Amino acid sequence: MDKILRIKMGADAGPQVKEEPLGGYAGLGGRAMTSAIVAKEVPPLCHPLGADNKLVIAPGLLSGTTAAMSGRLSVGCKSPLTGGIKEANAGGQAAQVLARLGYAAIVLEGKPKDDTLYKILINKDGVTVTADNSLRMLGNYDLVDKMKSEFSDKVACISIGTAGEMKMAAASIAVTDMEQRPTRHAGRGGVGAVMGSKGVKVIVLDDAGMKMRPPKDPEKFKEANQAWVAGLRKHPVTGEGLPAYGTNVLTNVINEAGAYPTKNFMWGRFDGCSKISGETQAETENARGGKGSATHGCHRGCIIRCSGTYTDKDGHFLTKQPEYETVWAHGGNCGIDDLDAIAMLDRLDDDFGVDTIEMGAAIAVAMEAGIAKFGDAAAAIDLVKQVGKGTPLGRILGNGAAVTGRVFGVERVPVVKGQSMPAYDPRGVQGIGVTYATTTQGADHTAGYAVTANILGVGGSVNPLKPEGQIELSRNLQIATAAIDSTGMCLFIAFAILDQPDTFQALLDLLGSFGGQKLTGDDVVALGKSILKMEREFNKNAGFTKEMDRLPDYFKKEKLPPHDVTFMVKDADLDQVFNW
Ligand code: SF4
Repeated sequence: MDKILRIKMGADAGPQVKEEPLGGYAGLGGRAMTSAIVAKEVPPLCHPLGADNKLVIAPGLLSGTTAAMSGRLSVGCKSPLTGGIKEANAGGQAAQVLARLGYAAIVLEGKPKDDTLYKILINKDGVTVTADNSLRMLGNYDLVDKMKSEFSDKVACISIGTAGEMKMAAASIAVTDMEQRPTRHAGRGGVGAVMGSKGVKVIVLDDAGMKMRPPKDPEKFKEANQAWVAGLRKHPVTGEGLPAYGTNVLTNVINEAGAYPTKNFMWGRFDGCSKISGETQAETENARGGKGSATHGCHRGCIIRCSGTYTDKDGHFLTKQPEYETVWAHGGNCGIDDLDAIAMLDRLDDDFGVDTIEMGAAIAVAMEAGIAKFGDAAAAIDLVKQVGKGTPLGRILGNGAAVTGRVFGVERVPVVKGQSMPAYDPRGVQGIGVTYATTTQGADHTAGYAVTANILGVGGSVNPLKPEGQIELSRNLQIATAAIDSTGMCLFIAFAILDQPDTFQALLDLLGSFGGQKLTGDDVVALGKSILKMEREFNKNAGFTKEMDRLPDYFKKEKLPPHDVTFMVKDADLDQVFNW
C-alpha cells in the first residue's frame, strides 16, 4: 500500500489514470485516509454530485495482511444526503484485494463530460478504464455476474446499482463477498450517488499473482494475531452470540429493553418481534437447508462470522442473512413481521444499491403519511421496486427519509443532518441519542455504539434511560471508533477490546509489529481525535453549526412507551462532546 491511484474522470481525452506516492497521506488507512483526502482536497461548499467532489476508496491499515478481521473498506466523499463529510464502510473481499494490489486509496475525481458509463479493471498489470454502456441500469447481481464471466470468478467488485446511476441520496456502493455476491454495502450517506456522478459503474479488482502484505516483524505479528484470535473467540458476543445468530440476535434484546423503534419510532416494543428475531431467522435458515448462520464470514480472515445465507421456501439463495438493522428497518419500523418479505426487501435493496436503513426509514415515513399501511409487506416491496425503476415516487423515497417527510408533510421524521436514525430509539438508549446528534456523519449507530454500556453491559454500564454519563460514553466511543475504522478491522471487534485489556493489547501489537513501531492506547486515542477534528472542521466549513448537533424536536417532547421517556440530554451538554 505505497501508492494512491487517481482517476480523473473529466479529463479531455477521457478518463486519465495517475499513480502517485503517498506523500502527506503516508501511514493512514481506512477512515483516516478517506477523511484526510476529503478534508484536504474537497471544497466543503461544493455540490456533492459536482466535479469538485471526490470519491475516495481506502482499505484499512491492516487490510491485505493475515491479521484476522482486517477486511473493512472505507468510502469517503462529501455526502449528498447530509451535505457534510462522509465515511461509509463495508465488509466483503475488496479491501483485502485492493491492499494486496498495493493501493492505499483510489480517488475518483472530476466528472465525465457526457453520460458514458465506465468500468475500471485493476490487476497486477495496472489499471484499465473502459467505456461500457451495456452496463446501464443493471442491478448489482446481474452486473457482478457479467464481470465474473468477462474476467474471472475470483475477482472482487465494487459497484453501484440503478439507484447510484440515478444519483439517489440513499444509494449505496456494493462490495462482493466471498461468494462473489454483491451483498456487502457501504450503505450510508449516498456514496453510491457520488460514484454514479463520476460515471463509474464498477471497479473490478483482481489480485492474482499478488502476495499478502508482509509485516515488519513477522514473529511478533504472528504471535499478536494468535492472541487476537483467542481474545475474540473467548468473548461471549464475538465468540458466541454473533456467530450463532448474526447481528439479528439484537432484535429480542433491544425489544426487551423497550428501545426497538416501532412503526416510525412510535413505540419501543414491537408485538411481531419474535417472528423476525435472530433466533427465528436462524431456525428458518437451518430448516430450509441453507448454510445457516453459524459459519459464514463476509471476507476471508473473518473469525467472528456473523453472516449467513437466507434461502427462499424452495431452498434457493435469496440474499445474505439480513442484518439486525435491515430486519428492523424493513420489519418493526414498518410494522412488518414477515421474514421472507424482509429478506426480499434486503435482496432488492442490495440489487438496486440502496441503504437498507435509509430505505426502511423512508418507507415508514411514507406509511405515516398514508402512502401505504404499516404492516403491508407487499406494498413495501412495491415501493422499493419503484425506487429501483426510478418512478417519481421511487425517486422521492430513494432520496431518503428527510426528503420523503418533506414531500408528504410529515413532522415525525427521525433524521439528524438529513440521515435517518438506525435501529435504536434514542429515548430508550440515551447514549446512542448523543451519538446520533453529534457525530460528524449524521445519525449513525456505528459512529459511537453506546448500546454497549447502555444495554449490553459491555465496556461498563450506564443507565440507558437517564442522561447522566452519556456524553462521556459517546465521546470515548466516537474517538475509539474513528481509530478502529482506520485499521480495516470490522467494528464488531469492539466488544472484545472494550472488555478485555489483553485483546486490546493484541490489536496494538498487531498494528505495531506490522509497521515496526510500538503503539500505545494513547496513540489510538490521538488518531481518533485527529480524525474527528478533521471531519468537524470540514463540516463547519460546509456550513454546519452546533444547532445541527441535535435530535428532531419531537424526541424531546413525545414519550416513548413502554418506559414513557423522552430524550433528556441537554443541548448544552451535547455541545461538550468534542470538548476534550
Ligand atoms: S463479523 Fe460479520 S460483518 Fe464483521 S467481518 Fe465478519 S461477517 Fe463481516
